[in-house]
Amino acid sequence: MRRGNLIPNLKLTLPPPDEVSLAKFLTQSGTFMDGNLLVNRDGVRIVSQTEVEAPPPIKPTDNQLSLADIDTIKVIGKGNGGIVQLVQHKWTGQFFALKVIQMNIEESYRRQIAQELKINQSAQCSYVVVCYQSFYDNGAISIILEYMDGGSLLDFLKKVKTVPEPYLAAICKQVLKGLLYLHHEKHVIHRDLKPSNLLINHIGEVKITDFGVSAILASTSGQANTFVGTYNYMSPERIVGGKYGYKSDIWSLGLVLLECATGQFPYSPPEQGEGWGSFYELMETIVEEPPPSAPSDQFSPQFCSFISACVQKEPEARLSANQLMAHPFITMYEDLDVDLSSYFTSVGSPLATL
Ligand code: ATP
Ligand code: MG
Repeated sequence: MRRGNLIPNLKLTLPPPDEVSLAKFLTQSGTFMDGNLLVNRDGVRIVSQTEVEAPPPIKPTDNQLSLADIDTIKVIGKGNGGIVQLVQHKWTGQFFALKVIQMNIEESYRRQIAQELKINQSAQCSYVVVCYQSFYDNGAISIILEYMDGGSLLDFLKKVKTVPEPYLAAICKQVLKGLLYLHHEKHVIHRDLKPSNLLINHIGEVKITDFGVSAILASTSGQANTFVGTYNYMSPERIVGGKYGYKSDIWSLGLVLLECATGQFPYSPPEQGEGWGSFYELMETIVEEPPPSAPSDQFSPQFCSFISACVQKEPEARLSANQLMAHPFITMYEDLDVDLSSYFTSVGSPLATL
């Protein structure tokens, strides 16, 4: 974009202010312009025609983002697969989150990955984090995502410890809408629903992220970079390596909600940290033991029933996202009209903005 020359003290003689000629000079932003001359409070500038209005925000369908056009602001998160940075588009000033996953993949896997990323990019739903662009370059996958300035539900949970039921219902409703979209419209299973993959922002929105990414990692798990994410929220049918479907995400949702409500991961932590023995112990517990439940003396019967509808060990016995939308736990707090925006912004430490 060409910057204009600033001529601060130039006096400009405007034509008589009759309606017709004013319309010619007045732009939408309240500045006057004629040809390449722009007049506003700051003076007069010679500008190119394209500079007069602010550039339109980049849309996911624009296909115009390139890594060369963005500046890195700071690292905002680290996962097992890579890092997430806050970045800013040089020309529009728009913020994005750039996720970089290091992985050296064989040629044969690249096509598959490109395919998965395309599914990711085609998602158009207010309850799913927008993926603007993805690249594979030099041993790393870079994904440009919508920036969610509240970070993840995991970050939030660390600050608030527990989420009261009315807020949880409002959060859950948005997650269900995201799942409805993924399951019923995109026909994809998320596969890695967990608190760090639910992102929030200051206007009270909750969006699902990283769908498809876990599939990419899993599909390359035979390679040197094995999938090292958490298995904690994985459904019993997935753990045993059987067939699984959309209901697998519903299991994960149940565990996430229970964790938000109680402040603890629903299965007591395996002994002595992360050894392989404890990992198998947890997997075995999920498969062998009865599912967890919400303590009925601390939570409403509706919440307890909702959790139970999600964490049935038999996938067929679990309700679908569609059915859960009509569950009394979701509907009972609707009249309260809870304000997630103030809730998310009220927790003290600043959201992950500049
Ligand atoms: P894993 O690698 O096991 O999946 P993870 O989900 O925590 O774990 P990432 O997806 O890399 O790993 O995300 C790390 C953190 O980065 C998140 O917890 C969140 O705080 C932040 N983050 C990720 N995506 C965004 C985004 N689009 N906007 C804002 N913050 C984000
Ligand atoms: Mg993630």
